Amino acid sequence: TSVRQTAPITVHSENTRYTPEHIISKFSNRGADVVKGPNGELNVIPTVKPYEFQTEVKVQKTGLMMIGLGGNNGSTLCATILANRHGITWRTKSGLQTPNYIGSLLRASTVRLGTDPTTLKDVHVPISNILPMVHPNDLVLGGWDISGLPMDEAMVRAEVLDWDLQRQVMPLMKDLGKPLPSIYYPDFIAANQEARADNLISGSDKLAHLEHIRADIRKFKAEHDLDRVVVFWTANTERYSDIIAGVNDTADNLLAAIKDSHSEVSPSTVFAVASILENAPFVNGAPQNTFVPGVIDLAERHNSFIGGDDLKSGQTKLKSVLAEFLVNAGIKPLSIASYNHLGNNDGYNLSQEAQFKSKEISKSSVVDDMVESNRLLYKPPTASAVAAGSKVDKKAAKGEHPDHIVVIKYVPAVGDSKRAIDEYHSEILMGGRSTINIFNECEDSLLATPLILDLVILTELLTRIQYRPVTEQSGDFKPLYPVLSLLSYMLKAPLVKPGTDVVNSLNRQRNALETFLKACVGLEGSSDLLLETRIW
Ligand code: NAD
Repeated sequence: TSVRQTAPITVHSENTRYTPEHIISKFSNRGADVVKGPNGELNVIPTVKPYEFQTEVKVQKTGLMMIGLGGNNGSTLCATILANRHGITWRTKSGLQTPNYIGSLLRASTVRLGTDPTTLKDVHVPISNILPMVHPNDLVLGGWDISGLPMDEAMVRAEVLDWDLQRQVMPLMKDLGKPLPSIYYPDFIAANQEARADNLISGSDKLAHLEHIRADIRKFKAEHDLDRVVVFWTANTERYSDIIAGVNDTADNLLAAIKDSHSEVSPSTVFAVASILENAPFVNGAPQNTFVPGVIDLAERHNSFIGGDDLKSGQTKLKSVLAEFLVNAGIKPLSIASYNHLGNNDGYNLSQEAQFKSKEISKSSVVDDMVESNRLLYKPPTASAVAAGSKVDKKAAKGEHPDHIVVIKYVPAVGDSKRAIDEYHSEILMGGRSTINIFNECEDSLLATPLILDLVILTELLTRIQYRPVTEQSGDFKPLYPVLSLLSYMLKAPLVKPGTDVVNSLNRQRNALETFLKACVGLEGSSDLLLETRIW
């Protein structure tokens, strides 16, 4: 594997140590405990907890196995990597186009490191330069699809990339062959997908399916001499699985349910379990509840990483910026109405109610934390509603909340070019109203593909980072908690450690990531205080 750091940064500080294998940094985790007194007054006690981080500097030779390899995202991602790797340029009606990774946080955005003391100008570096990360060009590609169309034909079917690019990348796509056969339980994805399902692992024994997938992962790893395999669900959106006590609520029950081929165990959950058992990180790019409690329990038991859910590519990404902007500006959104129409196979699958429901849920909770953060604008739930619990009146138990609807329609003619229309209707000063309308046209797979890359590359990095609290007997470094909530920036409905708050705000998500990466090299998180510019 190659470590492609164009201009690696070195931190000169007593907080940072470099060894041939590791970067070791000291970090003070600063926060505050807020304790309510008897009369409602708040007592704030600043806290500082010292930690050390240890990052392995050698990037692992990494394989990416996608479930849904032959879909729009899967085929676009493969063609994008191949075009970048081989420097393929192509002609469009506007001229010569070169391949790139625009839209990737890691490859196409920067962070501010500090200030050049001579010019007093800010110095920015690509995020991928803070710590050694896998270059997307170096990912080894593979995976599964229920459709057996070879990858060159899958790219043509997707109708995403310019023809002149498709034409040139075709032989390279052909070399990828056809996706591995996959698991198909028709009940979980829309009935309209059945015609695609011609590349299936036979039988209905779910334990045999689990073992088959595990063997696929092992074989791929051995065949390509990989250090690490990341498994990524970019297959069709499934319906939600019912959470049933005794079936998928604990790791043991889930394993038993797979053994019994229980009907509520979805294909994506079988893939997640197989990945955990192979210690391959698993990321879910779709909205369904793959991570039933039993999966999280199993990931904890095996210390194997998981992340999800649902790529935050277009409408929701904007929403997680706009809702925060309004609420933080002291403006009160009263309603957010979101419509989408799209014409790709994802849209076709989502035209069935149960699959739409998964998407609706994942798109809906995105403003919850903004509302929660501002009880000046939104009345908190009354004590009696809280006492009655969500069973009696879900709405009342949540407190005041903007009306929020999401509609998705399938319109074949627009293909992969999704249209998203959002109306933000807000209360302003003295009973006034303000309405913002957004019309967002996005080439879906071209927005989603870089997110998949970011998720995979970050996940690989997070497997190389360990931490320990600094105490009298500090003990050994240990891996991060298995649910990788640091991936939240790219995800619509971030999975977090059970019992902790979900952060949807795009700014806070990016800040968390930036602060964490900097902490791993012994730098303070970004402060925009810029004190030197405010004082004499
Ligand atoms: P797609 O329909 O083009 O591709 C999905 C692929 O998954 C298909 O080739 C299908 O044959 C395959 N598949 C279905 N069930 C499978 C199984 N059990 N095993 C293996 N393969 C299976 O869809 P897409 O546009 O590539 O999107 C993929 C997923 O990503 C969808 O769930 C979508 O909701 C989600 N997503 C996409 C975006 C985006 O912007 N493109 C954003 C957020 C989420």
